[in-house]
Amino acid sequence: MLYDVAVVGAGLAGLSIAQQIQSHGRTVVLLDKSRGVGGRVATRRLHDARLDHGLPYFQAQGPHTQHLIEQYSELLQPWPGKPGAYAAPIGNTAIAKAMAAGLTLHSQYCVTEIHLDSLAWILQGAAMDNPPIMARALVLAIPAPQAIALLDTLPPSPAQSAIIQALARVVFDPCLTVMVGYPLSRQEKLPQRGMIQGRGTKLQWGIEDSSKREQPNQLSLCLHSTPAFAEDHHHDWATGVNILLADWIAQAGPAFSDPLWVQGHRWRYAFPKTPLGTEVVVGQFAMPLLCCGDWCLGSTAEAALASGQAAGDWLLAQG
Ligand SMILES: Cc1cc2nc3c(=O)[nH]c(=O)nc-3n(C[C@H](O)[C@H](O)[C@H](O)COP(=O)(O)OP(=O)(O)OC[C@H]3O[C@@H](n4cnc5c(N)ncnc54)[C@H](O)[C@@H]3O)c2cc1C
Repeated sequence: MLYDVAVVGAGLAGLSIAQQIQSHGRTVVLLDKSRGVGGRVATRRLHDARLDHGLPYFQAQGPHTQHLIEQYSELLQPWPGKPGAYAAPIGNTAIAKAMAAGLTLHSQYCVTEIHLDSLAWILQGAAMDNPPIMARALVLAIPAPQAIALLDTLPPSPAQSAIIQALARVVFDPCLTVMVGYPLSRQEKLPQRGMIQGRGTKLQWGIEDSSKREQPNQLSLCLHSTPAFAEDHHHDWATGVNILLADWIAQAGPAFSDPLWVQGHRWRYAFPKTPLGTEVVVGQFAMPLLCCGDWCLGSTAEAALASGQAAGDWLLAQG
């Protein structure tokens, strides 16, 4: 099948553009390398708990997040940890899943190669069972460094080098996240409820994740490192997890020295440090190729949704 648009990346930006294009009667296919949707809006189930180890809550940061909160209000609850914050008690990926409803999605499809023939963009995936995908327009709704890796698979041309040059200006900060569980009674001993402020050079901030759940049976926390700490432990992040946990225990007190369970997650592309300052990047190829994502405009959910919307507007304006 030849789709009107193929969108690589089912984060907020990719989901927003796919919804928009499909609602205008065009055919869209969404591809994501992960098992689920949401990208950095991510929820993990661990030992009977659910933790949002990426974006912790939604806030009305502008018109797009305001609209999202209104549209999915049935899934969201105000989160007492921060005024104006909303979270999904069943995990924030519920919002991404709701956005993906009705869309054609290939998950576990890591796009490794793109090329352009006279009629269409052709996408190849890493797995043997990933079918080649053909589309008249291609949107890369993925972090700029990952988009560059795909653009690098195109034959050299002025259009290819121009778009790679534009995207190369974007730098991302990494983040090391530690998810940790304790008996529920330990919540009384937390130095701060809801939001946790780190001190020093290792732990930057954290969230009492279980305070977002309806009937938590344990205390679960997401602890996020500073970018410099994540950078330093990029190649040995298992050690980084232990150091970050020890830093948390040193800050929170001995009541937190015996967690029930611990798991780490490394965000290689967590927060754009140098956003581009433009809503969407348009390549000068014979067929439309656009790049979008939070990194175009900022480092927030609002930036991701706004960029996805701008990519959709651009494509729809082409007729
Ligand atoms: C720890 C953490 C905390 C955060 N806290 C906040 C916050 O408090 N407030 C806020 O507004 N924002 C926060 N953010 C940022 C927010 O989550 C992002 O700005 C937003 O989710 C980015 O959406 P996106 O669609 O641009 O990119 P992503 O969510 O990164 O989506 C990109 C998608 O592309 C997929 N992909 C990449 N390469 C390929 C490929 N080759 N083939 C197929 N699929 C591919 C990925 O699997 C991913 O699903 C946080 C992020 C993190 C990590």
